[in-house]
Amino acid sequence: MTATRDAMNALNVVMLGPPGAGKGTQAERLARTRGLPKISTGDILREAVQSGTELGCVAKATMEAGNLVGDDVMIGIVQERLDRDDARLGFVLDGFPRTVIQAAALDRMVDGRGPLVVLDVVVPEDILVRRLATRRICRKCGANAAPEWTDACGKCGGSLVTRVDDGVDIVRERLKVYLRQSKPLVDYYSARATFRAIDGNRPPDVVTEAVDAALESASGAAL
Ligand code: AMP
Repeated sequence: MTATRDAMNALNVVMLGPPGAGKGTQAERLARTRGLPKISTGDILREAVQSGTELGCVAKATMEAGNLVGDDVMIGIVQERLDRDDARLGFVLDGFPRTVIQAAALDRMVDGRGPLVVLDVVVPEDILVRRLATRRICRKCGANAAPEWTDACGKCGGSLVTRVDDGVDIVRERLKVYLRQSKPLVDYYSARATFRAIDGNRPPDVVTEAVDAALESASGAAL
C-alpha cells in the first residue's frame, strides 16, 4: 500500500486527546504499521531540553510549569519537520496541534498534500489524573514505559523515571490547560467528514482496533 501512495492520497493523521489518553502509544503503533513517521512535538521539545539547544532553553521552564510553548515556535518546528522527505507520503502527528491557531497553520501546511484525518482519543478526567500520576518514561530514549517494564526500558535499557511534568499538581495544571486551550480544537475539526472520536478508556489493543477502523472509514469519507 505504501508503495502506491502518492502525495495526493498521502495518509496525514492527527491524534488528538488530553495528556494521558494513550494517544502517544496509539500514534506509535499506527506509524509503525503504516510505515509513516510519528511526529511528537513533546518528544522534539524534550530532546531539545536534554541536549541544551536554544529551543530547549526557551521551552524548558514553560514545559515544567505545564504551560504551552508559543504557537510561532511550535508551528516553525512542525513546518520544518513536515518538509522533510520521509513525511511526503504522510505522517502521524502526536501533540500538535494544541491550539486553533496551530490547527489553522497545519491546514495551510497540508494544503495539496491529501486529506487530514483527525482522531480524538477520549478518556474521562479522573482516569487521566490517575494514569498520569503513575506514568513513567525512559530517561534515555523518552519511550512511555509499558506495564511489564519493571525497572528498565524495554527498548534501549535506559532507566525509568517519572516525567518531570507528571507530578499531581502539574498533572492537574496540564489538564486544565488542555481543557481551556485545546478543547476548541474538537469544535474546529468535529464537523469534518474526516474526524472520528475514539473511546480511549479501554485496553490498548482494543483502542488500536478502533483506531484502525476509524482511519479506514475516515480516509474513505475523504474520497
Ligand atoms: P506532551 O508530551 O505532548 O504532553 O508535551 C509535553 C509538553 O510540551 C506540553 O505540556 C507543552 O509544554 C509542550 N508542548 C508539546 N506540544 C506542544 C504544542 N503543540 N504546543 C505547545 N506546547 C507543546
